[in-house]
Amino acid sequence: MGLAAVDRNAAVVTGTLFVVATPIGNLADASPRSIETLRAADLVACEDTRTSRTLLARHGISTRTVALHEHNERSTTKTLLDALRAGKNVALVSDAGTPALADPGAWLVAQAHAAGIRVSPLPGPSAAAAAISASGFAASRFLFAGFLPAQPAARRKALEALDVPWPLVLYEAPHRIRDTLEDLLARFGPEREIVLARELSKKFEEVARLPLGNALAWLAHPHREQGEFALVLAAGEERPAHSLDAERVLDVLLEALSPSEAAKLAARITGLPKSQLYRKALERAK
Ligand code: SAM
Repeated sequence: MGLAAVDRNAAVVTGTLFVVATPIGNLADASPRSIETLRAADLVACEDTRTSRTLLARHGISTRTVALHEHNERSTTKTLLDALRAGKNVALVSDAGTPALADPGAWLVAQAHAAGIRVSPLPGPSAAAAAISASGFAASRFLFAGFLPAQPAARRKALEALDVPWPLVLYEAPHRIRDTLEDLLARFGPEREIVLARELSKKFEEVARLPLGNALAWLAHPHREQGEFALVLAAGEERPAHSLDAERVLDVLLEALSPSEAAKLAARITGLPKSQLYRKALERAK
């Protein structure tokens, strides 16, 4: 398959940077086109060459691999751009899913654009798209927030800013899933629905849609805390454009009142439930 791109105006033949999505668990999810592109490329830039070799070996692909991760991104990008300028085709992959989506790769792609090199994505698996598709939440719009901060105070602060009227997609590591669910529960209350998409496309795949109030009990089931998780939180209520910023109202009231009194008045001013505002008031008064 001929992969090189010809820039006829400049009469210079450059290679193409193919951004190739790879499986998130089930190797059979690699598309035929992605396999042929990896086979025909001159170089495969991998987040971790050992991980990608499993996929390459399965298809008998012997294309040379180069490691491109956050610690060598700048220096390796230079080498890869030289190769692309010399007419070589480079395929970029991450360990799993779509490169540059909560994964390394964006720097190389940006530099390729800046150098006038053709960038061509090969769409395919991504945990975010898979989780939203299995959530059943209407998602003509959604917010992908990736990983929340690992540090508890920073995570709670980040969640404060994430009250959007669209479904929210998060990634989480197994050793933090419990803490994150606890924080989501405190922030959005027990009624808000969440989809816990665990081990997608793998043997022990589970997709559970339940109220946040039941999520910790679901997680307590043996082995559930292991594995990879993508979370989809149901949309918050659309706030009318003219609605007052409840947090600002609370902050002003808390300058003079106790959390309970501030929540009571803030509920009258904003029309939001007092219990929700009281929770917020306690957090903000800390
Ligand atoms: N680039 C990848 C993508 O397109 O989805 C995401 C890479 S990110 C470093 C890895 C995170 O994605 C995991 O910690 C988990 O939150 C989510 N993830 C990856 N594979 C998954 C799977 N099979 N099931 C559920 N979540 C998954």
